[in-house]
Amino acid sequence: MADLNTSLELLGNKLLHLHKTPTSPNTFMQLNELIEAQQVTDICVSQTADYYQNQIYVRLQNKHPQIRWHIETTATLFDELPLDDLPKSFTQFRKKIEADYDLLHAAQDIAICATPERLAPIPESLVDRCEYEYFFKAGEDNAQAISQQKQQSSNFKGGESNGLNHLKSYFNSDAPSTYKITRNALDEWTHSTKFSAWLANGSLSVNTILNRLRRYERDVIANDSTYWIWFELLRREYFYWYAVTHQQKLFWFKGIGQHTPSTQLDQKKLEQWRNGDTAYPIVNACMHQLKATGYMSNRGRQLVASCFIHELGLDWRYGATYFEQHLIDYDVASNWGELAISGGRGGGSKRMSAVQS
Ligand SMILES: Cc1cc2nc3c(=O)[nH]c(=O)nc-3n(C[C@H](O)[C@H](O)[C@H](O)COP(=O)(O)OP(=O)(O)OC[C@H]3O[C@@H](n4cnc5c(N)ncnc54)[C@H](O)[C@@H]3O)c2cc1C
Repeated sequence: MADLNTSLELLGNKLLHLHKTPTSPNTFMQLNELIEAQQVTDICVSQTADYYQNQIYVRLQNKHPQIRWHIETTATLFDELPLDDLPKSFTQFRKKIEADYDLLHAAQDIAICATPERLAPIPESLVDRCEYEYFFKAGEDNAQAISQQKQQSSNFKGGESNGLNHLKSYFNSDAPSTYKITRNALDEWTHSTKFSAWLANGSLSVNTILNRLRRYERDVIANDSTYWIWFELLRREYFYWYAVTHQQKLFWFKGIGQHTPSTQLDQKKLEQWRNGDTAYPIVNACMHQLKATGYMSNRGRQLVASCFIHELGLDWRYGATYFEQHLIDYDVASNWGELAISGGRGGGSKRMSAVQS
């Protein structure tokens, strides 16, 4: 947030952070109050797969039909679902995208919106509420302390400038050329790209990453590993459109399926899983890593999710919620979509217990 504020200040604007107050205790009311006080005429938002965030926008649109809305695609490769229907599995999705779109060997970079030279200044009446000091003093100390602690214990440093630095150092190394071989390792910083946190909070765009990947393929090497980075970014895209397609069903116990799972909530087992105190040392190690750093490798996430559902027999939504609270790269679509699939709630094929196998 500090980095974003600095970028905005360079363009003559500032970051406004809204706080909950007794009269505006939730996001809808905070935005509504701001709209009414400032007589807002236009609103620009990033398109999101987050059902509940979109519901807030719908309520605001209904309440203020005179406002013009500008919805920009900033998080995804495609502006809208690139196929008529979303296929049931990622594999079908990938094959269709690779057949229909020339993205694999595109000679041209994907066009990226230029940053404007200046932005309109923030209205005078809001300037006092924009001070960065205010942002931290007004009750964010705790959140800040937790996030600093997590950042210190991992290499993730927030903000666009740190994200761009990471992108540069990753593609200046040999790591992309061996990604497919190393990506399933549990614990090394360079064994997977570690783009997820910056992607999740919008500090890096998928288009910027893809342009840099293609340059690496042109200048250094194009092999199975560089292809697999594209493959995983496309998987992220699939989950985004999965969440957009299935909306609130993403959070239902039975997911997009017809049958309610046989798993249930058992508080004691849930605590054991959360605290890394199960009968499975590998699961425990991964859960400790999550708590200490906010990060866990993809293979680790599959293992602990599988244990949660298949060994402990717990309701998958509690696992997803815990991940939502702790992941430094939390992304509504990837997290809830992946957990649903682990629990056989995703409509596609069910993953078997990874811990036992
Ligand atoms: C149960 C579970 C929950 C998950 N929750 C999240 C989440 O909240 N946020 C999140 O970004 N990813 C989530 N993932 C996907 C994946 O684990 C992380 O994206 C990955 O581990 C992040 O590390 P990385 O950036 O080094 O990934 P890399 O292996 O380097 O992959 C490159 C990028 O591709 C995307 N990606 C990779 N694997 C996946 C995948 N399986 N599904 C969707 N996108 C993928 C990510 O954007 C990632 O940054 C989850 C996976 C599982 C099994």
